[in-house]
Amino acid sequence: MKHAEKSLTDARNGHRTATSFIDAVTEEIGDEHISTSVDTPIRPDAFDQDDELKMELIAEHFEKIMLILGLDLKDDSLRGTPKRVAKMYVKEIFSGLNPANKPKVALFDNSYKYNEMLIEKDIIVHSTCEHHFVPILGKAHVGYISSGKVIGLSKINRIVQYYAKRPQVQERMTMQIVKELKETLQTEDVAVVIDARHLCVSVRGVEDVASSTVTSSYNGKFLNEQTRNEFLKHIYG
Ligand SMILES: [Zn+2]
Repeated sequence: MKHAEKSLTDARNGHRTATSFIDAVTEEIGDEHISTSVDTPIRPDAFDQDDELKMELIAEHFEKIMLILGLDLKDDSLRGTPKRVAKMYVKEIFSGLNPANKPKVALFDNSYKYNEMLIEKDIIVHSTCEHHFVPILGKAHVGYISSGKVIGLSKINRIVQYYAKRPQVQERMTMQIVKELKETLQTEDVAVVIDARHLCVSVRGVEDVASSTVTSSYNGKFLNEQTRNEFLKHIYG
């Protein structure tokens, strides 16, 4: 983050004469993956338009992008693409932008009085890099210690998926999942690790297909080294 902030400053100061301001900032932000806040930057009027209208408008705009690229939309294979992309954006990969799609999570009493760590590991994460609009693919590992309340295991997957299905920065996604779990489970004792491959790193830019990015957030009892190590032992074996 420090390095990213510095690069952004360099971009603002140093490159102003060489490149246009916007190009410099765009380039730096793109490769450094800066996250500006824990909340996804959403406009106040984000959901004034319903899904149907959004899909119609996105299809129109995507068609223009394809035309500018020089593609012939009369071709049978391409004709339906703008609508397919619009539907995929609104109903699938960016459906987690809309609070109406937030999973409903019921809280139960921890009737077994199980007060050890509960871990759910290898939760599939399919998200999208907000700087390049290409996939982030990986796994999330979640641990918590019950404060007397528990949630259904599949709800942890649903919370992860909800925050993954929006344009994201991996650090922010990690923090959003932690915040949601803390609020839902009414405890500070939450740990989240996400290990993911960014296609903007593997299929473009440096084209490094081997590297992955790991982000983690340890809170409450997980700040204790022994507890954190126990969690890590379970997820990495
Ligand atoms: Zn990216």
